[in-house]
Amino acid sequence: MSTSSVSLRFSGRQHSALYDHLFPGDGNEAVALVLCGRRIGDADEGPWGSRHVLTARDIIPVPYDLCHERTPVLVSWPVEPFLDVFDRAERRGLAVLKVHSHPGGYRAFSETDDASDADLFPSVMGRTDDPGPHASAVMLPGGEVFARAAYDDGEGGARFVPVESVLVAGDDLWVFHRDAVCDGALGRVAGFAERTAQAFGVGTTAALSRLSVAVVGASGTGSPVVEMLARLGVGEIILVDPDLVEERNLNRILNATRADIGRPKVEVLADAVRRMDLGTRVVPIQSSLFDADVVRRVALADVLFGCVDSVDGRDLMNRIATHYALPYLDVGVRLDADGQGGVDGVHGTVHYLQPGGSSLLSRGAYSATALQAAHLRRADPELYESQLEEKYVIGVQEGSPAVVSVNTFYASLAVNELLARLHPFRDDDNRKFARNGISLSQSRFLSDADGEPDVALAKLVGRGDTSPLLGMPEFSATATRRAA
Ligand SMILES: [Zn+2]
Repeated sequence: MSTSSVSLRFSGRQHSALYDHLFPGDGNEAVALVLCGRRIGDADEGPWGSRHVLTARDIIPVPYDLCHERTPVLVSWPVEPFLDVFDRAERRGLAVLKVHSHPGGYRAFSETDDASDADLFPSVMGRTDDPGPHASAVMLPGGEVFARAAYDDGEGGARFVPVESVLVAGDDLWVFHRDAVCDGALGRVAGFAERTAQAFGVGTTAALSRLSVAVVGASGTGSPVVEMLARLGVGEIILVDPDLVEERNLNRILNATRADIGRPKVEVLADAVRRMDLGTRVVPIQSSLFDADVVRRVALADVLFGCVDSVDGRDLMNRIATHYALPYLDVGVRLDADGQGGVDGVHGTVHYLQPGGSSLLSRGAYSATALQAAHLRRADPELYESQLEEKYVIGVQEGSPAVVSVNTFYASLAVNELLARLHPFRDDDNRKFARNGISLSQSRFLSDADGEPDVALAKLVGRGDTSPLLGMPEFSATATRRAA
């Protein structure tokens, strides 16, 4: 196992449950174990693609009265009662994360921590027969988290590597970089980003410059999203779309010209980002998202933007964001033509979806029947056509009309949503704005809170890599085809 950079992710609910246990109010340290899913990067995917991600899954608090000792500067606890937790990690291929608190706010691992981790992790690795990465983390009174990954050193001990960043995908989006939390470094703001920094703060600008964002869909809403992310100074954009530029797309794809007809959309947008030369690394992937390798690459991003119409594509993104604990921003635009050259309605919605929260399906963004029809059309086009004829399935909605000014409007709403999550600027809490719909034809702006969790998806939060990927049999087929 290589020691690529490692990041750690929590949902907002997991983070607040941990916080409540780790800071009971008595000023003493406390500790919990967390079983984590993993996304193991590949060395040949480049510096960003090779990183490993640990995604929190099950939290096991160590009861206060079970601890040998709890003081403001140490916590000691017996491992024996938790051996079944390690066995569960082994059975399910999960990593073991130990998290404890520093109520005094000490921003480093102490000598006591070093001794305790050097003792704990070799027994974790022995018991689970898993060389890592596992991890040890510290939570501070402000909720910040820093961590280190633990690997088998091959000599019966553990080797520790700092975890670069910790992401918390809740109502707000927190990204704790190790150097910012432990060394107070905020990073330097590049000249072009000074004006953004004036509005959103140096911390937000620095966070953006180290953020990896996956954008799925490189057309009407995807292209303005990419344009804005690059000019905001985002660190990496992973761009996914299988299609080539056609003449009929030129009314709405930013940076596409007549000379680009026939070129992959992702390449056209990637070229535009490179020409800007503002420091954004761009990874164009000309493919459908329904490909195991593409899903795995997208899962490494810190944020996912969905800029597609297809119901099954949006459902897949919701699933990826759940398994890999990412926030997912979905942009949907609907322009209804009346069939006589006019429009009946101009509506659009930006959804902010957090792992373990409600889903596009549970919010009613599409129906289970529409989802089934979309899956059938992709899996078995002939059966779909015949069932459509027999009226056994409802027709999958084809591309609706699109207008650059309308698409760009909703794309902008989505990018502002990301900024609001990174740097809360609303008068009210972000939790009240899980869904923001604007009807341009009715001049209405409607916002809703997150609502009840999607129970089926909530069980999968932080599951990480599985076989088959995302628990979807069709990905075992792509994986086998690629390996062959
Ligand atoms: Zn400590």
